[in-house]
Amino acid sequence: MFTTPEVYFQPNLEKIDREILKKIQKIGLLKTLNRAKKTPFLREKLAQAGVTNGINGLEDLHKLPFTTKKDLINCYPFGALAVPINRVLRVHSSSGTTNKPVTTFYTKRDLKIWSELMARGFACVGARKGDVFQNTTSQGMFTGGLGLIQGAERFGITVIPFGSGSPEKQLEIMRDFGVTIFHAIPSFALRLIEALEANDGIRNSLKLRIGILGAEPWTKEMRKKIENGLGIDAFNNYGFAEVGGPGVAIECRFKSGLHIWEDHFLAEIIDPKTGEPLDVEEEGELVITPLTREAMPLIRYRTGDITRFIEGSCECGRTHIRVDWMRGRIDDMIKIRGIGLYPSTIEQIIASHRETNGNFLIVLSGIDDITVKIEVNNGVAGKADVIERLKQEIFDEIKRTTQLRTTVEILPPGTLPRSEGKAKRIMDLRRLA
Ligand SMILES: [Zn+2]
Repeated sequence: MFTTPEVYFQPNLEKIDREILKKIQKIGLLKTLNRAKKTPFLREKLAQAGVTNGINGLEDLHKLPFTTKKDLINCYPFGALAVPINRVLRVHSSSGTTNKPVTTFYTKRDLKIWSELMARGFACVGARKGDVFQNTTSQGMFTGGLGLIQGAERFGITVIPFGSGSPEKQLEIMRDFGVTIFHAIPSFALRLIEALEANDGIRNSLKLRIGILGAEPWTKEMRKKIENGLGIDAFNNYGFAEVGGPGVAIECRFKSGLHIWEDHFLAEIIDPKTGEPLDVEEEGELVITPLTREAMPLIRYRTGDITRFIEGSCECGRTHIRVDWMRGRIDDMIKIRGIGLYPSTIEQIIASHRETNGNFLIVLSGIDDITVKIEVNNGVAGKADVIERLKQEIFDEIKRTTQLRTTVEILPPGTLPRSEGKAKRIMDLRRLA
């Protein structure tokens, strides 16, 4: 399928025999339990679950208690730390868009492993020596800043740590330095497309070929839109601050799900209601136990992300299990007229239409009224017949998929607010009414 051979950063570990992998996971899990006893909240949880004497191996995983974001919020700022503070080389935090931030800590070894996992990710998406990487996300406490930069340096490519904002300026820098790979939040990739459309002359001087996108929920339909708009291959990158940031899972060139680096993260998919494990291919909540983190061990962390394991081996040769794209976070599910709705379902429908530019906003108002505001692209703005047909099609598709009758509003490009960080896709005015 590809004209260039597959490249691995740590070939022996990326193509590891699964029997050996299980042994590595067992050692990691037992070590993690020992580290966990050094943090009061985990020690207490383990005692409550009756596992003070430890466990035998992976088969006893279900005996261990879950941990949640709430546990970590209650621990702010130092309560989840398992080593003396003088062994901590770096502190990051989650963005805290919906809650108080969660801090995450790294020892020297934690930072080394993090950059190695990100370097694996660069190999996975097809980065090669000579590539030039631009990071379009902020480099502060956000793990997607320095995390990606260190990974690119570890992999051995040139880094341009631009930071967030200024899509027009980002494009100019991409042109001037021959940038081939960038990292962005998906909604920012849409802003790059807009900036490119406004300055189309720049397109032929760009060398972009790969986008690494993540840190907010998105869909395969949106991927297509971004790939077409920028003329690149885009890959889904997954991670979260609580377990160190990005570098948990990433897509390979075959785009058939995200490989979870199982020598560092033990993954389960559970029924979010009962906590019971689900079978391969069954959709549920992803639970992650980091196996090698020193500064901040965690046990069975409930990510809140809904996905499923994908059966079978991957053509890239990596043996690490794959998960499907996240449908969304359980917290993001809107309850409307008794129906549970993920914004990603609406995004899928909208982004599958050529006429839209990918920007949308779901507004909930009154008792349970739902309005979907959708921007069209430049080519369609002002064409009344196209807009009327699009409006009807989207209304019908949403109704068919979700049973919900919505008000669909079609807007000219650039109408909806743009965010410097993660996009806001839902405005819930019901409680204010
Ligand atoms: Zn693969």
